[in-house]
Amino acid sequence: MSGSAATGTAHPDERIGSGLKSRAKRALGDEFLRKAVAFTTDKLRKGRLDAADMLGDWEAWRERARAIRSHTISHLDYYLGQFADNVQKRGGHVYFCSDGREAVKTFLSIAERHKAKLVAKGKSMVSEEIHLNHHLEERGIEAIETDLGEYILQLARETPSHLIIPAIHKNKSQIAALFEEDAGRPFEPETKVLAAYARQKLRNYFLEADIGLTGCNFGVAESGSITLVSNEGNGRMVSTLPKVHVVVMGMERLVPTFEDLEVVLNMLARSATGQKLTTYTSILTGPKQEGDLDGPEELHVIILDNGRSNQLGDPIFQEVLNCIRCAACLNVCPVYRHVGGHTYGTVYSGPIGAVLTPLLQQDMKEAGTLAYASSLCGACYEACPVKIPLHDMLVHLRHRKVKMKLTSLPERVAFKSYATMFGNITLYKLATRSAYYAQLPFVREGKIKSGPPPLSGWTQSRFMPMLPKRSFRDRWAELQQELAQRKTDGAAPNGTRKEEKR
Ligand code: SF4
Repeated sequence: MSGSAATGTAHPDERIGSGLKSRAKRALGDEFLRKAVAFTTDKLRKGRLDAADMLGDWEAWRERARAIRSHTISHLDYYLGQFADNVQKRGGHVYFCSDGREAVKTFLSIAERHKAKLVAKGKSMVSEEIHLNHHLEERGIEAIETDLGEYILQLARETPSHLIIPAIHKNKSQIAALFEEDAGRPFEPETKVLAAYARQKLRNYFLEADIGLTGCNFGVAESGSITLVSNEGNGRMVSTLPKVHVVVMGMERLVPTFEDLEVVLNMLARSATGQKLTTYTSILTGPKQEGDLDGPEELHVIILDNGRSNQLGDPIFQEVLNCIRCAACLNVCPVYRHVGGHTYGTVYSGPIGAVLTPLLQQDMKEAGTLAYASSLCGACYEACPVKIPLHDMLVHLRHRKVKMKLTSLPERVAFKSYATMFGNITLYKLATRSAYYAQLPFVREGKIKSGPPPLSGWTQSRFMPMLPKRSFRDRWAELQQELAQRKTDGAAPNGTRKEEKR
């Protein structure tokens, strides 16, 4: 069974939270997926560590990057204004959109004005976030993904399962099968052959597209420039060959100056792929100017809020806007590494997705469940180049869910009873004593190998040691008694030991 068939995208009927368990179960049963994700994330993780070593004092760089991002987000209104003014001064158009619907409407009105039939897309997670392809398809506008990974997924009709390696769950044979279906001829599952086919196919789209659509890795406020990084050069083609270039970006993707850009680009490339710098870094300032040899005649920049501004001023969650989408947190997350991105059922997966999705969607009931897809080990924080404390945020999200009474009734009752028991020594002793007898029907060879629900979920793949008859407290009390007794027996009235006296 192919990775896509086994894990694929979330089924449309599966909601983010309620479908999480079944998607995780499917992914865990897919050996190929688990191996593929672990293999690639291992490589990326090692690359990041090596690239960080080469830079020197990595912690100082992290601190600098965090300071730049925190400063920008704390003064986002100022920098957005400066950025928009500078884009307009260079002849570009800027649109602030409060949600996905408005952003899609804006894009469609640009497309309609140009009677666009074909849109060539560079990699853009924000366009995934607002489901732009779907809306374009509805209007009869063809959208072609030109990032190789995204192109493969478009053929497979799947969504990305990783922020920077969207087709992380596919191998060469699966890709060859997709290309065979597309081209109607057989393909060797060789990287060179497959890449050559994609290159030849996509080249025509670059030349024929009415609109080039890209995301934006960083907007530079002091000049109104759009920075795009890619390893395939497609970002450069999409943003310069079609007559119209539309940028769709999250409102937080800014840095104040080029000096700041240098720091964050270093951190992005090293944290994402272990490169010193991404192969292509394009900095575009305005549409084609007089004397320019290439470039679009029109530049439109759509700046999306979609729940981001709700986090501004929040003492716990504002920092999530510092994210530079490097995916380092995904590569080290023990949950992501086992189940891959589709299990999350959302555009943004891994630890950053588990935090970002409920906040952007303002949905604690379904999306808030993602906060439980974490072991809270803190590896994401250690890997994050801008030091976002994702593990703390996940705990706060869980707390929020509990406060909103969105956890299940049995869970609420269980934790309430647990708290009562731990707050009262008599109840605690009684409970631990009864637990010893309650476990006996499930004990085999000194271990609990299959418990009743919900314990059965735990014992399905591991066992629990049985509770001992004498608790630690009992043994401690006995020990204290024994010591006191020894003291009484062993000490002479004048303080010398009895044996010595004899
Ligand atoms: S949270 Fe940090 S590690 Fe994760 S994608 Fe964002 S910047 Fe990278």
